[in-house]
Order: sequence, then C-alpha cells, then structure tokens
Amino acid sequence: MSFSLFDAPLREPSQFVGFAGNSIDRQSENRADDSVDKALADPGTRLLLMQGGRLYLKVRDGSFDPWFGVAESLPFQTLPGSGVLLGFSDQGPVLAVTAGLEPEQLPETVKAIDYRSVYMQGLIDEAAAGAMAQGAALLAWHASHRFCSKCGTESQMRAGGYKRHCPNCGTEHFPRTDPVAIMLTATREKCLLGRGRHFAPDMYSALAGFIEPGETIEAAVRRETLEEAGIRLGRVVYHASQPWPFPYSLMIGCFGEPLNEDIQADLNELEDCRWFLRDEVRLMLAREHPGNLITPPKGAIAHHLIRAWVDSE
Ligand SMILES: [Zn+2]
Repeated sequence: MSFSLFDAPLREPSQFVGFAGNSIDRQSENRADDSVDKALADPGTRLLLMQGGRLYLKVRDGSFDPWFGVAESLPFQTLPGSGVLLGFSDQGPVLAVTAGLEPEQLPETVKAIDYRSVYMQGLIDEAAAGAMAQGAALLAWHASHRFCSKCGTESQMRAGGYKRHCPNCGTEHFPRTDPVAIMLTATREKCLLGRGRHFAPDMYSALAGFIEPGETIEAAVRRETLEEAGIRLGRVVYHASQPWPFPYSLMIGCFGEPLNEDIQADLNELEDCRWFLRDEVRLMLAREHPGNLITPPKGAIAHHLIRAWVDSE
C-alpha cells in the first residue's frame, strides 16, 4: 500500500549537492567533555587543520590530502583547546583543529587553500568535503562566540565542541546553523533568475535570502521573491538542502509558482533579474549559451534546482 506522504523520489535530491557526502558517525549522544583529549591520545585519530577560512592540504604528485595524524599535525602548531570532535570514521575519531601557522610559514608540501576553492575545484573527495563543511562551521562558530552573550565572561568549550559553558552565569550556548531560503520561481515554460552584484561574470542564479525569526520556510521564500523581484508566489515546494559553511548556514532549496509576470527587481540587491525560457537555461547549464551566460557550478544547490526544473519535462 502506498502512502502519499512518502511519494518523494527514493534518491533524495540533497544527496547530490556539494558538502552532502559527509560520512562521519557523529555519535551526538556520546559527546563527553574530555572527548577531544581522548581522541588526541588515539593513534587512529585523523585531523583536518584549518586556519582563517583555509584548509591545510598535503600536496603529493598533484593530488591533495586533507588528513593529518596527531603526531603529523604537531609542527603546524595546532592551538591548544581549539579542537572539535566531528565524530568517528572506520579508522577512528575525526577532529577539526585550528592551526597556528600562517600560510606563508608552511613547508612546500603543504598548502593552505580557502574552503570555497577546495570545493569549487574538487580538490578533495565528497566525504572529506562534507567533513570540512562540518569542521569549518563549528570552528567559525567558536571563533565568533568566545564570550557569553548573557554576561560577557569568557566561556569554555564542552561536549567535544558542541557546546560552550559560561563559568560565571552557567548559561550553555549551542552552535548555530543559519537557515537561508533559495528558490527557483518557475512555470512550465520559464524560470526567474537573477544576478547578484558580487556574482562571477555572466552568472545567473536562483534568488536567495536569510529566513528571519518567526518565519516559515514558505513565508521566507514568498517574502524574498516579492522583495527582490516583485513576483508574488502561490505554491511553494521544498526540493533539497545543502550545508553551506560560509560561515554556518543551511541552504533550503524550494520551487515557487509565480502569480504575476511583471518583474520589479530590487536593484540594491540585484544587478539584473529576468525570465529565462527552458531552452536558454539548458544552454547555460551546458556552457553553450551564445552570450556566454552560465548557471552556478555543479556543487551548488542552485544548480540542482535549475537542473531539476530543466529536466522536469
Ligand atoms: Zn555568562
């Protein structure tokens, strides 16, 4: 007997976005306060070293290896108390640690490369990219939440990095994930794409914006589309999500059904915004557009929204 609630595709669209390949067993119910120290004493532990938005990568014969052993990590001056326990792999515990060496102090065989380039250029496999997203988001949260937001006292890391505790007022603080709605407004024939002011040249993408306190995902999708493009939406349908470690967001991808055609773009936010016919978008996806217009790269959830729409007929 089929149950309509589960009439969704067996292969979740979220499986195919960048950073979705994280295979770490988080064991979130077992995070003791000494779990990082314990992991550092385990010979099977592997570390990701990070510094200032960059991942350290061992370079050998043109390939990139992000994993360091505990002893191997010592010359990179990992900062005491900066490690977070991401969880466990088949080989043992997995940590992300803030390293102390600046990129220019690194030996020839190790490069510090910004997260975005690591991901865009596909330098590491999907599982490592997922672990990088987890570690990057956690370390960024700790770096910007050192002090208790209630009383101002310096707080202490607990639970392997999944909590901060204030020794003065006792408040516990938990890592944030900021939800962002990203939506493709589309009819059978055409979809709405815009160009942000900071976009790569010739790239058009789905509109996006932060979900605000007190708002449902659907309400945020409708509000952002109306504010940025002057388009009112009817139905809104969830499609896929993507961890987005810049610094700690979750992109929530939806489709929206437009109720009007006349675009009124918010030119403070967007350089341009217009309707695109299906054939034109197909050329943009294939990088064969006569005007060289393109859609976002394959790892981006926007790519998957646009691709799913183009392939929906
Ligand atoms: Zn406090």
